[in-house]
Amino acid sequence: MRERIRPLSRREVMKGAGAVVATAWLPTLTLEAQPPSQLITDDPGASIVALDEGVWAVISKPLGGASPTVSNGGVVVGRDRVLVFDGFARPEGASWVVDQIERQFGRQPTDVVVSHHHGDHVGGLGGFAEGTDAPPRVWVTQSIKDRVQPTARGAAGDLLEAATVLAATTPTTIDLGGRQVELTPMSGHTPSDVVGRLGDQVTFCGDLVWNDLFPNYMDAVPTQLRRTVTTVIGDGARVHVPGHGPLPTRERLRHYSEVIDLMEELGRRSFEAGTAPAAAAVELTELPESVGGWTLFSPRYFETAIAAWHRELNQ
Ligand SMILES: [Zn+2]
Repeated sequence: MRERIRPLSRREVMKGAGAVVATAWLPTLTLEAQPPSQLITDDPGASIVALDEGVWAVISKPLGGASPTVSNGGVVVGRDRVLVFDGFARPEGASWVVDQIERQFGRQPTDVVVSHHHGDHVGGLGGFAEGTDAPPRVWVTQSIKDRVQPTARGAAGDLLEAATVLAATTPTTIDLGGRQVELTPMSGHTPSDVVGRLGDQVTFCGDLVWNDLFPNYMDAVPTQLRRTVTTVIGDGARVHVPGHGPLPTRERLRHYSEVIDLMEELGRRSFEAGTAPAAAAVELTELPESVGGWTLFSPRYFETAIAAWHRELNQ
């Protein structure tokens, strides 16, 4: 996630534009609107939209390098407690989210859920302890704790030391007062994934779901990812907040699923043919027009995805 960003070529941009025009010409297709939301803040590094009263999605703008949050997340305000979903990339990012909560609600987070162990989702944790005598309770899986705590320092280290470990096989429900968030450990993007559900309204997906940005397979177990993605995007929630990228429509979630399928096809085919991931990735210069335009954080992300398939098939 911190690698170089591949700029979209003019041809890709034009292809994207063409896809929009083509869609507009098809009379049987209904163009889906974005999930209903209300803009709360629009800063250079991230925006916040309200999905309901006291329910926010934090949508970061990671392209360009000016975002201290980098990853997406959310906020759920209950009568008694205020939960933030995810730890963001840098302490300044977490502090910015806390400032927005204080400004709108005059309250501070009481609970922070970490979605998985990647640095752009835990690196900001220390920011939640700044300027408060009552740091929030942090919720993690054992796998997140094992991977992050040994190298965490300062406030982040203290928060992780005191963190509550989620039950491994059953969902944990946090009652915020009039609102309940259900946390379910999952796997696929990493062995440490957590999904947060607010009834059938909102699912905070962490990096199990990406939109517009091609997913990072660095630690993925692709067969698990395939199963988990089906479960998460099929859970009936009105809004799915992805780990990266804008809020997806149903159509974009379907595209994401197709991108996952395409990587499986390429991964399996190249593995059986004995083609190395790097060589197989060269053949895929861009994603098919049918799944819309996706940007790559790094030109190596296709290769990383194919390599993840080979790694699993080799076992
Ligand atoms: Zn990740």
